[in-house]
Amino acid sequence: MKAYRAVSVPLPPECDVRYIRRLMALTNLAYRGYTVMAPDMLKYTQYQLILWRDFKQSLVFGATPKKWLAETWTPLKTYRIFPDGRRIGDSNAQVVVDFTRNVIRVRQVCRNQPRYFVELPVPRWVLERVAEGGDIKFARVGVRHNNKPHLVLVAEREVQPVQPSGHVLVVDVNSWRHGVAWALVKGDRIAKWARERPDLGYVERMYSELVSLERKYGALKRLGLHETLEGRKLWREIKRRRRKLNAYLRDFAQRLASRLVKKAVRHRARVVIDDMLNESRRELLEEKIHGGLMKIYFSSVKRFVRLFTNQLRWYGVPYEFRRLYSTICPRCGSRMEKLPGRIMRCNSCNFSAHRDLVPMLWYLLSVHVQEKIKEPATP
Ligand SMILES: [Zn+2]
Repeated sequence: MKAYRAVSVPLPPECDVRYIRRLMALTNLAYRGYTVMAPDMLKYTQYQLILWRDFKQSLVFGATPKKWLAETWTPLKTYRIFPDGRRIGDSNAQVVVDFTRNVIRVRQVCRNQPRYFVELPVPRWVLERVAEGGDIKFARVGVRHNNKPHLVLVAEREVQPVQPSGHVLVVDVNSWRHGVAWALVKGDRIAKWARERPDLGYVERMYSELVSLERKYGALKRLGLHETLEGRKLWREIKRRRRKLNAYLRDFAQRLASRLVKKAVRHRARVVIDDMLNESRRELLEEKIHGGLMKIYFSSVKRFVRLFTNQLRWYGVPYEFRRLYSTICPRCGSRMEKLPGRIMRCNSCNFSAHRDLVPMLWYLLSVHVQEKIKEPATP
């Protein structure tokens, strides 16, 4: 089984964003099966635009662009030079990953100029993936929403599935407010469990500051003063803080994903994930969380799940999604009542547990039930 991971690195500012945008638009056309003729472009690029058509269904292109002229990142071939003298790939490729000099040379991508190239240091991420047996098979180039050109490096690895130890890592994904609960299940008991959350004090403080700045800006706008120097300054500040908050959560999601993956690898555990976010959303509605804050609590949660499963695939850790309830009694199936401190209590059978543990108990129960079914019926 092959697994892929990708990293995005910024290209230097001397890259011509307009040229890269044009490449992206032409790639989109090529992707739709058109023969792309761009006589003013360099020969190699022209050939690639025609050749790319044949890679349509391959990973080189990543996801299918949905909209007509939606942004399609331009695929690039890579050529890898290793310190032991091995050279892999097309020597004319536009991306040369040179491990002997520790640089990535990007040729004829940043500008429509013969022999024009830029060089970047090989990111640590690349060295780590290569050390794990990965190979930088493809690259893509494109422009991000902030109008900055980026190079995406895609690592491919032939994965040997992990020999399972019988342990299971159960991961219950909620909003960031209630975090991600995980439990390491050994046999029929929970060996360890915890809940991982970002610094909520920081998130809430940032959010309330953002709201008050937005109010100020709204007041200026109503007076028609939002285009003034002060108004523009305020708007820039709002955007800067929004970016900062999003970056904080994104970073948290990333760190958490890789920490949990390491845990699964270390224990050779199978992973069971519940990512039903509707229930978490309902819980926040019950707590009367403001809509804007709610959005922040859910930002990067999906990204966390994507990063997590992608890295599990990369390390060959088996995983599955399973619905694990946190408000239904695992013992008798009645709806449970919520007590202070997120304790859930069942009024029918008096069972009670911490809300974050209920999904884990559901998991144990479902395994138990399945084992019973598997047992042959006694005559
Ligand atoms: Zn019950």
